[in-house]
Amino acid sequence: MSKIILTGDRPTGKLHVGHYVGSLRRRVELQNSGEFDKIFIMIADAQALTDNADNPEKVRQNIIEVALDYLSCGLDPEKSTIFVQSQISELCELSFYYMNLVTVSRLQRNPTVKAEIQMRNFEASIPVGFFTYPISQASDITAFKATTVPVGEDQLPMIEQTKEIVRKFNAVYGDTLVEPEVLLPNNKACLRLPGTDGKAKMSKSLGNCIYLSDTEADVKTKVMGMFTDPNHLRVEDPGEVENNPVFIYLDAFAKDEHFKEFLPDYENLDALKAHYKRGGLGDVKVKKFLNNVLQSTLEPIRKRRKEFEKDIPAVYDMLKKGSDVARITAAQTLSEVKSAMKINYFDDETLIKMQSEKYSK
Ligand code: ATP
Ligand code: MG
Repeated sequence: MSKIILTGDRPTGKLHVGHYVGSLRRRVELQNSGEFDKIFIMIADAQALTDNADNPEKVRQNIIEVALDYLSCGLDPEKSTIFVQSQISELCELSFYYMNLVTVSRLQRNPTVKAEIQMRNFEASIPVGFFTYPISQASDITAFKATTVPVGEDQLPMIEQTKEIVRKFNAVYGDTLVEPEVLLPNNKACLRLPGTDGKAKMSKSLGNCIYLSDTEADVKTKVMGMFTDPNHLRVEDPGEVENNPVFIYLDAFAKDEHFKEFLPDYENLDALKAHYKRGGLGDVKVKKFLNNVLQSTLEPIRKRRKEFEKDIPAVYDMLKKGSDVARITAAQTLSEVKSAMKINYFDDETLIKMQSEKYSK
């Protein structure tokens, strides 16, 4: 069986370092590993509209931002098909049919959707489109027969929902769809990077992000203002590293070579953590180190972005070409789905023959 990746991001803002460690960095590695037959990367604008229906301009403006972030992180349109979700109308058709296989109570149980409803203060006025986005995500994944979906931890319930739809569809209509496997980051800190404010998740919608395209000065200001252990008041106080975002970011980004370059008094992160826990290590010193680590990670990304920013029409052209390629695959799957569901009346010769025989008696 072919190995196929499908993943993507909502164009609700520029991409941040949570996206980078949660999915983007891995995608680039997988892309360059040569182990996958096809890679589809989707800018999920239709999904972004499910909770931004009154702000289409925001979604429109951010398509190019996400595309530039992709290219600057090393996604390569020669190796990965980068496309825009709304341009593939076949995905809506798939969702329409999958909706029959999912119950309202099943959707209500989705913990990520529950948390997102609360975060957006939707309460009793949840848009139906938003409520059903896990079904739409199942269409995105299955349309490309994805076997592997590299995402952050918040996406686990979506992949679970997709698997259920695949099993149900195949059981009812015959083997047609492929069950995907989730690929989570292998480092715990990257599963769900917290915000700079210490909130559980760095998220475009919460305004607690360090963006990949932030300037050097912005990154420094954000890092120096980060939330740490609130009980670590004086340098000599023992500090906590577990729920401390500064250390969680170091877990996600720091490599031993960073210590050699920026903080040679410590061999590695374990040594730095031990000193912080013992007491005697100030937050400012740790933050300065984190700033150096982030700057050295982000600098090459910023530099490549500047290059791609010089030719914006070429980036739109790349997205258009990618969407054209993606549409062919999605149309093929939709056609298989419609045959399996027996809604292919006009290409089904046996049906026409059978009906004619019935009436010729
Ligand atoms: P929004 O607030 O609009 O939902 P978001 O910041 O949550 O935006 P998405 O576009 O929903 O970003 O997520 C894109 C991908 O990035 C998903 O695979 C998601 O799991 C991953 N991701 C998002 N935020 C984080 C995070 N803080 N840590 C790790 N992975 C993340
Ligand atoms: Mg999200």
